[in-house]
Amino acid sequence: MTAVLPAPAPIATTSPAPALPATAGAELQVPLVTGERVRYANLDLAASAPALRAVAEHVTELLPYSASVHRGAGYASRVCTAVLEQARGTIAGFLGARADDVVVFTRNTTDALNLLAGCVPGGVLTLDVEHHANLLPWRRGRHRVLPAGPTLADTLADLEAALAAEPTALVAVTGASNVTGEALPLARIAELAHAAGARLLVDAAQLAPHRRIDLATGIDYLALSGHKLYAPFGTGVLVGRRDWLDAGEPYLAGGGATRRVRTGVDPGAGETDTVEFEPLEVQWAAAPERHEGGTPNVVGAAALAAACRALDPVLDDALPAHERTLLDRLVDALDEIPGVDRLRIWPDCPDRVGVVSFVVDPYPAGLVAAYLSAEHGIGVRDGRFCAHPLVDRLTTEPEGAVRASLGVGTTVEDVDRLAAALTDLVTRGPGWTYAVLDGRWTPTPDPRGAVNPLLPDSAAPCANGTLAQ
Ligand code: PMP
Repeated sequence: MTAVLPAPAPIATTSPAPALPATAGAELQVPLVTGERVRYANLDLAASAPALRAVAEHVTELLPYSASVHRGAGYASRVCTAVLEQARGTIAGFLGARADDVVVFTRNTTDALNLLAGCVPGGVLTLDVEHHANLLPWRRGRHRVLPAGPTLADTLADLEAALAAEPTALVAVTGASNVTGEALPLARIAELAHAAGARLLVDAAQLAPHRRIDLATGIDYLALSGHKLYAPFGTGVLVGRRDWLDAGEPYLAGGGATRRVRTGVDPGAGETDTVEFEPLEVQWAAAPERHEGGTPNVVGAAALAAACRALDPVLDDALPAHERTLLDRLVDALDEIPGVDRLRIWPDCPDRVGVVSFVVDPYPAGLVAAYLSAEHGIGVRDGRFCAHPLVDRLTTEPEGAVRASLGVGTTVEDVDRLAAALTDLVTRGPGWTYAVLDGRWTPTPDPRGAVNPLLPDSAAPCANGTLAQ
């Protein structure tokens, strides 16, 4: 008898893809209206993503060192200062910032764009596909909103024509749509902007969690939010060229934003009976301090930098591959369900991240979202996603659409659960009753119990804001 030898192990020709980092929300269990508890299928990462475990651990390590930043000689103060400044460096490196670029810490993307709006020395051009955060701040100056054309190619041609028609300081576009996930051709838009003497700002709130971004490809300014990049709430950044940020109006006037502040009172004034009140003489600091008055959010900055470190090894291959598999599976499944219609801006947009919006005939978006949560433990977003002009164009549904988004921590089971739940909805209808209460679709009754499971009921705030006894 011939001996059967085990098949030789395949020879690894490439090193294995690095594993995706774990999120702190991976094991979250949530109640259903039926009384069961299930693992939370978080398909709402485009709104806010759970922090990575590595981020939570880093923050826990840092908390004992909380102390004054930039103003203290104590050891803990020096640690906090070093952590803050190293976080700037990490984030600059993560985004491929140029050596003379500035990293300003902000609260989020909205804050970063409002900051830049105070520094732009001329007109701003945006598309109408933008999130309100990249539409409303620019209204304080000359702001033109270009309607997206029927194709991406048309839109780029219109953008070029609009730039030729009028001098423009800044073209401000999203990296990826928060409604459809479609990713814009940033290198091409940078070429068009630069050829017309304008700079390019990228609202990277939706792109940064999915793709590596390199400012050196022609992006002059970039804004993003930590809470979408697997760090906690409360920190964002504006990164980009120094000159406008050094010349612009200080965004948050206060301690730390100045070099020197003096009253203009003549020292001899006290010898007379009248005191002359003079305005303060202020020498403002250069960016980034110029825009960061007040005590900085060191924990937030450290958390965002920790998220960048954890995502860095997976951003080129492992994460895009993971998301591509799940996105294809989700899109294929949605397209099979009768009555489900996906929203798209352009038929010729070649690239998209893991964000999909759809309507489910004949159900209002808010009801679909309430049903998915109450009966299936699935978190999605519904409405107009703070992109009203775009959603108005893509659907006539009065309640807007449902959005599912994926990323680190999303599983095949999450995607399949959503597809199965939507199939059930369109074939059998909801299994519970729902009504609009306080403007939101809500299960009636809703037996899921306390909305805040983190506090004992006795610590719940009363209506007047005091703690119950
Ligand atoms: N831009 C885009 C594309 C977004 O998706 C969002 C958040 N939905 C924002 C800006 C604003 O982000 P934040 O709320 O963190 O300021």
